[in-house]
Amino acid sequence: MTPPLANSNAARDIGSVLHPYTDLVAHQEIGPVVITRGKGVRVWDDTGRDYIEAVAGLWCASLGFDNERLVEAAARQMRQLPFYHGFTAKSHEPMIELAEMLLARAPVPMHRVFFANSGSEANDTAIKMVWYYNNAIGRPQKKKLIGRVKGYHGITLAASSLTGLVNNHRSFDVPLPGFVHTMTPHHYHEARPGESEEAFADRCAEALEALILAEGPDTVAAMWAEPIMGAGGVIVPPRGYFPKIQAVLRKYDVLLVADEVICGFGRTGNYWGTQTFDMQPDIVTCAKALSAAFLPISAVMVNARVFEGLARESHVIGTFGHGYTYSGHPVPAAVAVETLKIYDEIDIVGHVRAVAPTMQAGLRSRFADHPLVGEVRGIGLIGAVELVADKETRANFDPSRKIAARAAKLCEQHGVISRALPGDSLGFSPPLIINEAEIDEMLDRVRAALDELAVQLR
Ligand code: PLP
Repeated sequence: MTPPLANSNAARDIGSVLHPYTDLVAHQEIGPVVITRGKGVRVWDDTGRDYIEAVAGLWCASLGFDNERLVEAAARQMRQLPFYHGFTAKSHEPMIELAEMLLARAPVPMHRVFFANSGSEANDTAIKMVWYYNNAIGRPQKKKLIGRVKGYHGITLAASSLTGLVNNHRSFDVPLPGFVHTMTPHHYHEARPGESEEAFADRCAEALEALILAEGPDTVAAMWAEPIMGAGGVIVPPRGYFPKIQAVLRKYDVLLVADEVICGFGRTGNYWGTQTFDMQPDIVTCAKALSAAFLPISAVMVNARVFEGLARESHVIGTFGHGYTYSGHPVPAAVAVETLKIYDEIDIVGHVRAVAPTMQAGLRSRFADHPLVGEVRGIGLIGAVELVADKETRANFDPSRKIAARAAKLCEQHGVISRALPGDSLGFSPPLIINEAEIDEMLDRVRAALDELAVQLR
C-alpha cells in the first residue's frame, strides 16, 4: 500500500479524524476513501472513481445523493427562521407540519410525536419515556428492557445497551444493568434440522416468555425490535414471528417499541416495516429516510396510552424534563416535510414494490449457487448475502479472516460500496429511487467481486 501524499485529503484525514466504526490503528496505514460528490445512486471519490452506493450511505440516503427540492427546502427555511425550539411550549410550523404528517402516516394509531436528531437519540428518548410512563402509572419496579441478540438500536449509553452486538458492548462497559437480550430470529442459523419457520417462530416466542418469567414479569417494561434486523446482518424474521412475540408481550403487559430507523419509509415494500411484519407497536422510532439523510432528524411516535401517562406525570412534576436543543429543528424538519411530500408524489412504496423483485431475484440468481454464499436473504430493497466457509454445515469463516470486510473492499474496487455486517454478511440497501438497470449493474459488480474473492481463497 503506497502511503498517502503529504497534504492530500487522505494524509490530512489520518492526522486529524477519529473515525467511527474503524480500526483506528489500521486506519493510520490504510487511510480513508474520501467521497467528494454524489448524484442519483452514485458517489465519487477524490480520485474521480465512481461507486454505486449499495447501502444508501448508512441505509439512509433514500432519494439518492442529489435533490434540488430538498436543497431549496433547507435554504428557504434557513432564510425564514434558521432556528427555533420546542422547549417551554414554543413551536414553529415545520415541526407542527411534520408531526401531523407522521401521525397521518403512522402504521397504527399514534397520538403524539417527539423529535430528536438521530436514531440513537430517538431510542434513548423512548427508553426514558417507557420508564417515565411506568413511574406515572404506579409500577416503578417494571423497568427492564428487552433487546435481541444482533439487534441494533444505536450507540448512546442506553441505546447501545439495547443493541445486541458484541462490538458495541465490548470494552465500552455496556449493557447497563436492566437490559437483557432474547434470541436472534435467524432461521438459517438458529433453527433445528427440519424445523419449519412457523415452529421456529414458536420457539422464539417461548424463549422470550422464558426470559420474561426468569426476570420476573413485574420487572419487564418493554421490548425493542427492528422489523428486519439491519446492522446485525439483514435478518428477516421467520413467518408468523411478530404475532407470536406480541401474544407473549401482551400476556405480561410488556410494551413493544418498533425501531423503524432503517425499515421506515418504504424500505421493505410498505411504508413501514411494522406493516410488512404485522407488528402492533406502542411506540415507533424513526430517522434516516425521514429526511432522506439530507439533514439529521429523528422522531418518536407514542400511542394514546403512553402519551396519557407521560402527560399526567409531567403535570405532577410541572414539566416533561427531556428535550434536545435541536429537537424539531426547523431546517431538518422542513427538509423532512419536503421528503415526505416527495415520497407521496413519486409513490415511493409503489416504486420499491416495482423494482424490489429485480433486486431480490437478482441477488438469488447471482449468489444462491455461488461457492462462497450460504444464504441470500431480504425483502423489498434490503438484502444480504452471507459468506460461509462450508455451505453444507453453514459454518462461517474464522472471524480473524475478516472475510466480509475483504469482500466489501473488493466490491469497492469493482465500483460498489456495500456493507460488511456481523456474521460474514454483505448488506445491500440502495437508495429507494434506484432503477432496475442500476440494480443489475450493482449486482453484476458485486458478483465480479465475489468471484475474485473465491479465486483468492482457492
Ligand atoms: N436503530 C437502527 C435500526 C439503526 O439501524 C440505527 C443506525 O443504523 C440506529 C437505530 C441508530 O441511529 P443513529 O446512527 O442515527 O444514531
